[in-house]
Amino acid sequence: MKKFFIQTYGCQMNVADSEMVSGLLIKSGYELTESIDEADIIIFNSCTVRQHAEDRVIGRITQEGSRKKKKPDLLIGLIGCVAQRCGEELIQKIDCLDFAVGTDQYRYLPQIIENCLKNKCSTVKILQNNIENYSNTQPLRKRGCSAFVTIMRGCNNFCSYCIVPYVRGRERSRNHLEILKEIETAGNKGYEDITLLGQNVNSYKDNNIDFPTLLKLASKIDSIKRLRFITSHPKDLSDKLIDVMAKEEKVCEHLHLPLQSGSNTILEKMNRGYSVEQYLSIIKKLKNSIPNIAITTDVMVGFPGETEKDFLDTYNLMKKIRFDYAFTFKYSPRKGTKAADPRVNRGQIDESVRLERLQKLIALQEKITFEKYKEQTGKVVDVYVEQKSKKNINELSGRTRDNKIIVFSGEEKLIGKFVKVKIYDATGWTLKGKIQNN
Ligand code: SAH
Ligand code: SF4
Repeated sequence: MKKFFIQTYGCQMNVADSEMVSGLLIKSGYELTESIDEADIIIFNSCTVRQHAEDRVIGRITQEGSRKKKKPDLLIGLIGCVAQRCGEELIQKIDCLDFAVGTDQYRYLPQIIENCLKNKCSTVKILQNNIENYSNTQPLRKRGCSAFVTIMRGCNNFCSYCIVPYVRGRERSRNHLEILKEIETAGNKGYEDITLLGQNVNSYKDNNIDFPTLLKLASKIDSIKRLRFITSHPKDLSDKLIDVMAKEEKVCEHLHLPLQSGSNTILEKMNRGYSVEQYLSIIKKLKNSIPNIAITTDVMVGFPGETEKDFLDTYNLMKKIRFDYAFTFKYSPRKGTKAADPRVNRGQIDESVRLERLQKLIALQEKITFEKYKEQTGKVVDVYVEQKSKKNINELSGRTRDNKIIVFSGEEKLIGKFVKVKIYDATGWTLKGKIQNN
């Protein structure tokens, strides 16, 4: 039986796609291996959202290519957003790359691999079809005890900096009954903390079922205990959703709400569809309805035309909102997007300025996160025990309802269980706690 190894780069959607692809390959008679040395087929699931992410995976393919000297029959393949963006070109350029398969063509992977093995030729399959949503596939989940469930694919928003709508195609929602069934099955298998995934879950629509309705239906499923979702686009976040979040016990007190910029001029150029004032009003409503909610965000610096004043607006807004955590990015031009088109948008910001702004934001957010985590000291929280701590094998690591990682001493048999933990300290982005005996 041929063994495959799959390495995932990028976002949670890619993690979920790798699980789905693993399921497809296993069904076709391949075996998954966790060891790259044992693999007959090495697959990289790639991310192209920033140039750096793309360069990393391309570097890795070239590096792993040397394995073919010892193992001439080894196949190396690329899937995901880089394959979709430039698979054809990469197959020509990189000798050791055997196949490149785009985001809508994973059902053909078993055939493609078989063909490569038999005919010793390379294959590219990157046709976008805008309808494939991989219904009736069974993901092979590998991660601890929390599961991702993809509810929709693609994106129609065309934020002017973003490559996602080009590589993942048009937005399509999965059938709600199929999603509910998948959640129930995952729960029965012991995955009791479920994260629903989509580029913008707030525009989910399956006939008359919108996202708040789906969330409500999912929260009635007995086999699960917690529900989360990413990502929410602020322009589509409804009062109805806030209401469901507040009322449904299983929906966790956490929202990831990408801000991107604190300047209205930049938000408009980004085509984000909301203003700073509208964003603040959502935060206010959320905090009123769910007082202990944790809010996290994505912020970008160095978008073309971003002045020092625009940057300071972002900086000051982050200081004002005090997110629990923020993923901060340096703008990276993506070919084909509006923001990267020199005819439309002048004023690309120097790399050194982008870096300087990024470092300032990181320093600010680190301080805020640390302070907010420290404020948790003394609280007793519900923790879903996920795994052994990576840093200390005598400790366990789990997740709080508001999506914070917490480590504490405990026996391995607690993995997959819910425990009460008292927080006594915080280091960086991790809480430290002690299990409470009931
Ligand atoms: N659909 C999600 C996330 C998409 S990508 C959303 O709308 O939030 C994740 C994050 O990467 C984005 O929120 C954005 O902050 C960042 N990003 C996207 N394109 C980028 C680019 N060209 N340069 C730098 N960061 C980018
Ligand atoms: Fe990209 Fe915007 Fe779509 Fe998110 S909503 S994937 S940032 S285009």
